[in-house]
Amino acid sequence: MERYFQEEIECASEETLRDIQSRKLVEQVKHVWDNVPYYRKKMEEKGVTPDDIRSVDDLHKLPFISKYDLRDSYPYGMLGVPLKDVVRIHSTSGTTGKRVVAYYTQGDIDLWEDCCARAIVAAGGSDEDVCQVSYGYGLFTGGMGLHGGAHKVGCMTIPASSGNTDRQIMFIRDLNATIICCTPSYAAYLGESMKEMGLTPNDIPLKAGIFGAEAWSEEMRREIQNTLGIKAYDIYGLTELSGPGVAFECSAQTGMHINEDHFIAEIIDPDTEEVLPEGSQGELVFTAIDKKAFPVIRYRTRDICTLRREKCSCGRTLIKMEKPKGRTDDMLIIRGVNVFPSQIETVLLEHGYQANYQIIVGRENNTDTLDVHVEMTPEMFTDDITEINKRQGDLVKGLLSMLGIKAKVTLVAPKSITRSEGKAVRVIDNRKI
Ligand SMILES: [Zn+2]
Repeated sequence: MERYFQEEIECASEETLRDIQSRKLVEQVKHVWDNVPYYRKKMEEKGVTPDDIRSVDDLHKLPFISKYDLRDSYPYGMLGVPLKDVVRIHSTSGTTGKRVVAYYTQGDIDLWEDCCARAIVAAGGSDEDVCQVSYGYGLFTGGMGLHGGAHKVGCMTIPASSGNTDRQIMFIRDLNATIICCTPSYAAYLGESMKEMGLTPNDIPLKAGIFGAEAWSEEMRREIQNTLGIKAYDIYGLTELSGPGVAFECSAQTGMHINEDHFIAEIIDPDTEEVLPEGSQGELVFTAIDKKAFPVIRYRTRDICTLRREKCSCGRTLIKMEKPKGRTDDMLIIRGVNVFPSQIETVLLEHGYQANYQIIVGRENNTDTLDVHVEMTPEMFTDDITEINKRQGDLVKGLLSMLGIKAKVTLVAPKSITRSEGKAVRVIDNRKI
């Protein structure tokens, strides 16, 4: 039987959810108008006041917030409460420019941890479970978010953090971890390491994994499920919105339920900024309706995806978002064609490779070049040139049919691409010099 962490919300009627959203949105807009001068100025520039916002139907009148706004307002420009009410910060892992610093009151932390607890229960977790949190702890939201959620569920929580793979596997086995939370690339790496140690899925007690913080394909899901012998659940979130748990997957594994009592989702056309009808593909925009310290309204996530409200076999009524196809800023434009790394990954996994690859984009004689380096698996490793050429040729064909452009494929020896314990570095774009 399906279990829920907060059934009255997770299974509420559409009407009830809308009422909650409208009530909280009206309050939140007043809160931001009164307390966040940066956003009030944006509202004034657009000619909107709190009086114009009476329900979710008025959401489209409000201005957007982008990552540039968050950088401009660093460090305190978006703060919505007196600093003495803030109990914690987290920060994005931005590699360029200023990081985004997000603030939390104790109430903000509580609602975030509730969201993570819903995800853990949806993955079959209860107070009988041992939950190993192998996301990084610290400024990154992954570790602390799932950690707090696991406490709320009542799991025995192992704050393993990332790295030290041998110790991870030792704890999983010795402490009987049944649920693991980490990035999907680290889950795949754990599976690979277990195999090398001669362990099969039957040697470990894990039953479920909650994986997020980077894009991963359905093929990668199947691979992780097989090597670890678990059911692999997706989780979505952004530091700007709290962290993991903005949306979570249920047993149906067909998209993630959005925690609509805390976040309102919209899909817009990224170029015209026009709101698109349900079912359309576009850029995902989120409004946090009850977070007080860092109250982000109409935040443009840059994630490309689709929303669907349909009956789900799990009984939850929360709207579902598809796995994001990619980020508008992950999207590569190569010879005028839009290419997402996730599309390349899909082709590799379909051809029996693992998700150990690197995409190198360059420019020669004013033409973009696309090189994909792919690790052979130990089973397929060979130095037979004819065999390697044939395999490379097969991948070139597969990529051409997926992307519509020709890539150069180079097969490399197993383990020659650097592994990551956090987010994997998949793309090297040498054009931006
Ligand atoms: Zn569901």
